Amino acid sequence: HAVPERVALDINNLSFAYPDQSQMALRGISLKVDAGQHVAILGRTGCGKSTLLQLLTRAWEPHHGEIRINGEALSQFDETALRAATSVVSQRVHLFSATLRDNLLLAAPQASDEQLSSILTRVGLEKLLEDAGLNSWLGEGGRQLSGGELRRLAIARALLHDAPLFLLDEPTEGLDAETERQILDLLAEVTKEKTVLMVTHRLRGLANFDSIIVMDNGQIIEQGNHPDL
Ligand code: ATP
Ligand code: MG
Repeated sequence: HAVPERVALDINNLSFAYPDQSQMALRGISLKVDAGQHVAILGRTGCGKSTLLQLLTRAWEPHHGEIRINGEALSQFDETALRAATSVVSQRVHLFSATLRDNLLLAAPQASDEQLSSILTRVGLEKLLEDAGLNSWLGEGGRQLSGGELRRLAIARALLHDAPLFLLDEPTEGLDAETERQILDLLAEVTKEKTVLMVTHRLRGLANFDSIIVMDNGQIIEQGNHPDL
């Protein structure tokens, strides 16, 4: 299947347990997300939020139930098409021992140096350009990044990739309040027309979401919008 331009999701009675685990990580999750809708996912640690996002990228296959994109089963999309359709910020960000440029080009091989520098400035990482610019070596044998810098690097990657579906797992974790506000504003601006699922522990900024779901113990226990909850 080709890469869709807009993404609507239909998650139907999804259940999943990790290999060799008797406990189900997801239990009967059903959720419809229209194209262009922004959904926030809340819930206590270990309730299954990241697992749900991972099933949407086909990192794992569900035991029961299914996920549809624009009415087509997720399993009908090959890995390349699916990767092209999703911009992901995962909870654990991977830094490659490579130049700053190569760490970003992974997400967008065609991007020009101007685009890379501009996105770094927009996420507040212009400091990384100080010494050797985009040739700065990151990771082993080079500059290590703080937790907050790593998050913003991952956000820069996701923005460069610019897919119709954004899956964001606590994208502002570890950022101070002011930086968090800037990043949430930036994300809101660039994802206006896109479908967004964002896991968060913070209540800040939730008024901008079309829908908020609360998970507990692998299930959705509440769903509504900001004033309801
Ligand atoms: P947090 O807010 O701490 O990130 P979460 O809601 O994202 O939590 P998940 O990471 O989805 O929670 O985990 C759901 C459950 O699945 C937890 O009980 C966790 O221990 C378990 N789990 C997560 N990843 C694995 C794995 N790779 N193998 C086995 N069990 C896992
Ligand atoms: Mg998680």
